[in-house]
Amino acid sequence: MDFELTDEQRMIRDMAREFASEVLAPQAALIDETEEYPFETLKQMGELGLMGIDVPEEYGGIGADTISYVLAVEEVSKACAATGAIMSVQNSLVCYGLVHYGTEEQKEKYLRPAASFEKIGAFGLSEPQAGSDAANQRTMALRQGDEYIVNGSKNFITNGGVADFVVLFVRTDPTQRHKGISCLLVDTDTPGFSHGKPEKKLGIRASNTTTLTLEDCHIPVANRLGEEGEGFKIAMDVLDAGRIGIGAQALGIAQAAFEASVKYAQEREQFGQPISRFQAIQWMIADMATRIEAARLLLFQAALKKDRGERYTREAAMAKLYASETAMWAATKAIQVHGGYGYMKEYPVERYFRDAKITEIYEGTSEVQRLVIAHHELK
Ligand SMILES: Cc1cc2nc3c(=O)[nH]c(=O)nc-3n(C[C@H](O)[C@H](O)[C@H](O)COP(=O)(O)OP(=O)(O)OC[C@H]3O[C@@H](n4cnc5c(N)ncnc54)[C@H](O)[C@@H]3O)c2cc1C
Repeated sequence: MDFELTDEQRMIRDMAREFASEVLAPQAALIDETEEYPFETLKQMGELGLMGIDVPEEYGGIGADTISYVLAVEEVSKACAATGAIMSVQNSLVCYGLVHYGTEEQKEKYLRPAASFEKIGAFGLSEPQAGSDAANQRTMALRQGDEYIVNGSKNFITNGGVADFVVLFVRTDPTQRHKGISCLLVDTDTPGFSHGKPEKKLGIRASNTTTLTLEDCHIPVANRLGEEGEGFKIAMDVLDAGRIGIGAQALGIAQAAFEASVKYAQEREQFGQPISRFQAIQWMIADMATRIEAARLLLFQAALKKDRGERYTREAAMAKLYASETAMWAATKAIQVHGGYGYMKEYPVERYFRDAKITEIYEGTSEVQRLVIAHHELK
């Protein structure tokens, strides 16, 4: 494995870093408080190419590799994890599937505007009874001629209330389980489509999360992504890519918690000396630094395998599992380093703590990642 970044990877990281520190960081605490969806900054990110990082240039992306994607999501999430969540959904859960399974017509209509964030996408897999058990889909799509009639509901959908279209998973064959699922591209202005109010959340509060309801929605067969019955396979493939994005989001939160702790430990004095002189604090800093490096290397490994066209399900699960648990652990330690001040909103570490938690839950909980890894180790 080559540990040197290429010129392009460094350029994309630096561009994301500059944008994150100049534009995202100053507003992160405010939009966490107000729960305001940051349309304007997301549009700017679209113009910079940050919403279609590995989308080929011919479809309006910047055609970069997955390491560049990891670096950019880390930088964005270090400043604002809510923006990092939206960025990861748009790049991985929306654009990736369209690049790999879309027809030319679908790529023109959905991928090109999604890569520049002119169209916002959402990924509708979860249902009230189908969380970790994603194959238990009840949203039904009955074929009538050249249309599907779709009825059902989805929950916890990121961008659900603001999306222009949804990559929606539906059951087309009730006699089958995994193989009875298909994937449709559903415009949110389709008659019968509606969304609920934004959910009130612990963290990533500026991201928009809603339920979706579909009542007799007529969706053209031409809007099916992939073949009928291929939906579950597409969802799992897309989630492998997505887990690299969420791992990178977690890495950004962990890095932010670490940097805040290093700064505070050198400034805060107790017993007549900076608390960084105490070995108890030094050990927390050392463990944070070590775990963060390990998470970064796992992410780079998964990204490299993906770019080489190799199977990377196991590596993506390991990277997401380790990075998300590192983020939660590092944010907890960061509050400890800050003492009582860390518990107050005056310092950003309480936000890192709240934001970190979601990375252990969405796109497969930590328990599900362990199931995936164990499946590969025990077969
Ligand atoms: C803020 C937010 C945004 C989200 N965005 C999206 C989105 O954009 N699109 C989308 O489709 N979904 C989205 N989700 C849904 C998310 O992917 C699910 O919440 C997640 O997959 C877990 O499902 P669940 O909440 O139903 O929990 P459950 O599956 O009910 O799990 C409950 C607990 O049981 C454990 N568990 C379940 N099955 C097993 C098992 N076999 N072995 C061991 N433990 C098990 C879980 O790990 C967990 O600890 C989002 C969720 C949140 C909170």
